[in-house]
Amino acid sequence: MEITRVAVIGAGTMGNGIAHVFAAAGVQVVLQDISLDSARNGLGAVRGNMERQVKKGTLSPGELTAALERITLTTGIGKAVQDAELVVEAATEDQGIKEEIFRAVDSAAPPEAILASNTSSISITSLAAVTGRPDRVIGMHFMNPVPVMKLVEVIRGLATSNETASTIAAICARLGKTSVEVNDYPGFVSNRILLPMLNEAFFCVMEGVATPEAIDTVMKLGMNHPMGPLALADFIGLDVCLAILTVLHEGLGDPKYRPCPLLKKMVAAGRLGRKTSHGFYDYGDGRT
Ligand code: NAD
Repeated sequence: MEITRVAVIGAGTMGNGIAHVFAAAGVQVVLQDISLDSARNGLGAVRGNMERQVKKGTLSPGELTAALERITLTTGIGKAVQDAELVVEAATEDQGIKEEIFRAVDSAAPPEAILASNTSSISITSLAAVTGRPDRVIGMHFMNPVPVMKLVEVIRGLATSNETASTIAAICARLGKTSVEVNDYPGFVSNRILLPMLNEAFFCVMEGVATPEAIDTVMKLGMNHPMGPLALADFIGLDVCLAILTVLHEGLGDPKYRPCPLLKKMVAAGRLGRKTSHGFYDYGDGRT
C-alpha cells in the first residue's frame, strides 16, 4: 500500500519531528494534539527545524514552503484520522492514554488504515488488543531528533501481519530511514539496552561517585559515545526515562531495572531535562 496521507497524534518532541519527516517526503500530514496551542507549538518547531535545514543547505526554501503546506492542525481525533492511510501515535508515554487513543482511532480511521505507535516501551500487542485490527497495528519507534536520526525500530506485535510490516518498511525507506524489525518485549531492543546504562549513570550521581560532567566525559572520551548518558537523559526527558524504566521493571520483573530514586525525585520536582530547562544540567537560553 502506497502511503499518501498520515495522521500524527501528539505534537510534542517526537510528534512534530515525525510530522516534519513525512511532510518533507511529500506525504499529507494531519497533526493532532489535545489543545490547539500544543499543535501550533509543534508546527512552530517543525518550521524552526526546517529553517535550520535551509540554512545548512539540506532543504530549499521552496521545499520548506511546500512541506509546511502539507501539514494541517486539529484537536479532533476523529477529524485527524478519518482519511488517514497510516496513523502514528506519539502522545505521552502512558498506557492508559495510549489505549484510549487507540480505541478512538480504531473507531474513526478507515478499516484498512495501519495504526502505529511511537512508544518507547509500551507493549504493541496490548495496544493492538484494544482495536479490532490487531494485524494492522505496529510499533514505529523513531529516534530523537527525528529529522536527524536514521533508525526506526519497527516492532511487530503478536498479531502484526507481514503485509503491515512490509508497508511500514517501505515508508521508512521513503523517509530516508533504516528500519530494523524487532519483536515485542518491554523496551524492545533500543531502550532495553540504553536505559539500564542511563539508570546506572543516575545511580553514580546519587551515590556521589562523580559529577555529571565527569560521568559524561568518561563515557564520551573513554567509550566514544557522542553524548554522555546524563546529557542524553536530559535530552530524552527525565519523565520519559522514568516511564521506560518503570515499564522495564514491571514488564521483566527483574530488580536490575529499578528506576534510580534520584531520577524519581527529579521528575517529582519537575526537573525533566531540557524541556523544563533543568535536569542533570541547567539550560539557559543557549541550551548548551
Ligand atoms: P512530549 O511530552 O514532548 O509530547 C507528548 C504530546 O502528546 C504532548 O504535546 C501532549 O499534549 C500530547 N498528548 C497527550 N495526551 C494526548 C492525547 N490524548 N491525544 C493527543 N495528544 C496527546 O513527549 P515525546 O517525547 O514527544 O514522546 C512522545 C512519545 O514518543 C512517547 O511514547 C515517548 O515514549 C516516545 N519517544 C520519545 C523519545 C524522546 O526522546 N523524547 C524518543 C522515542 C520515542
